[in-house]
Amino acid sequence: MLADGDKRAAYDRFGHAGVSSGGGFDAAGFGDLGDIFSEFFNMGDLFGASRQGRHQRGGDLREDLSLAFEEAVFGVTTKVTVRRQQTCEECRGSGAAAGKAPVTCKSCGGRGQVRYQQGFFSIARTCPTCQGTGSMIADPCPKCKGEGRMPRQETLEIKIPAGVEDGTRIRYGGKGESGLHGGPAGDLYVVLHVKEHPFFEREGNDLRCVMPISFAQAALGTEVKVPTLDGEHTLRIPEGTQSGTTIRIRGKGVPVLNGYGKGDLHVDLKVQTPTKLNKRQRELLNELEGGSKIENKPQPRTLLGKVKEMFQ
Ligand SMILES: [Zn+2]
Ligand SMILES: [Zn+2]
Repeated sequence: MLADGDKRAAYDRFGHAGVSSGGGFDAAGFGDLGDIFSEFFNMGDLFGASRQGRHQRGGDLREDLSLAFEEAVFGVTTKVTVRRQQTCEECRGSGAAAGKAPVTCKSCGGRGQVRYQQGFFSIARTCPTCQGTGSMIADPCPKCKGEGRMPRQETLEIKIPAGVEDGTRIRYGGKGESGLHGGPAGDLYVVLHVKEHPFFEREGNDLRCVMPISFAQAALGTEVKVPTLDGEHTLRIPEGTQSGTTIRIRGKGVPVLNGYGKGDLHVDLKVQTPTKLNKRQRELLNELEGGSKIENKPQPRTLLGKVKEMFQ
């Protein structure tokens, strides 16, 4: 498996994930833009992983992108500005001045390797003069000074699919640094940072929020307006609802990334005990308490922590 140079390079950078399919996410959902990785692998290994030799793959780049909560949910087309090494336009990457072709390296005679005698052994090493390319530039391109590449700032329009979350990485193939000596370009990895919502908590594709209701609303039942990401939803709260009851509103969550359907919205109902009572309210509550006294005994263990979940 490691004999293949490109696979080897992928293995060095990502371990098995890179070798198999480039992620495990189906990128079909958003064209040829790239792959999405939900896990976060170590980005430190992505840099400087270039092989010596004639064709050198360009380095991978990482850009961090901050998204609003709604942008992550619905997807967004946005711009990132990347500073990357790109093939020099003047010499088209050869590094030689116009009309001057590179000449054969004198140190290695164009082989790209030099041999050292060490005791009984002859050891081949990458030629230090030409860095293994086998050629040298006598008249370097004045624009890139013989590098063949130049750092250039570029603004790329990128499409973020619906349903991404904090820490999601998107790979844009070939949008990293240009390769050297005809080598392929590296990839650009955009790492997403999603801002928090004032009241929605994200749990995968589901959303959760806490809705306070009064004791009377819980006891008598009521209807309340719950904000969702696509408008208000009327939530019916049945009479006799206990504090801590969760009502699930189907399909009001986050779209499934690269898939179909949406998650749900869970509304945790929290019965609020009144803190400031006037004389009249106090009388009414005392009257109510006389009519239906609760037995203050610990609940049997089996009932503890069992929170009822209702569906709408
Ligand atoms: Zn140049
Ligand atoms: Zn050489």
